[in-house]
Amino acid sequence: MSTIDTADYRKRLEEERARLTRAVDFLEKENPGSVSDELGELAEGGTDNHLGDLATAMYDRELDEGLEEGAQQTLREIDAALQRIEDGTYGVCEMCGKPIGADRLSAIPWARLCIDDQRRVSS
Ligand SMILES: [Zn+2]
Repeated sequence: MSTIDTADYRKRLEEERARLTRAVDFLEKENPGSVSDELGELAEGGTDNHLGDLATAMYDRELDEGLEEGAQQTLREIDAALQRIEDGTYGVCEMCGKPIGADRLSAIPWARLCIDDQRRVSS
């Protein structure tokens, strides 16, 4: 029997989910083409600042892809957390079966491990 108010966490998870979905949409609209498209445009432009533009384009691309990847990973975690609320296993550490703790869930509502196990797997 869980003492956690899942309705509250569900609301936060759904809000965060909506926010990340918008962010991913935005990143995909901002960069509809591939890297080679961008490089092609730059090559045709033939500006003096060619190498600088190239580096900037590559850097922007990596940054956006990193953000998008991170957002999609978090979206998967949020979906899994919402599923755990449905299953009644929300707030329980997947490794040791102990409660994750309200403090940790407030900070990261999609946390699947208690702080001790999280430290263990990431160290
Ligand atoms: Zn644990």
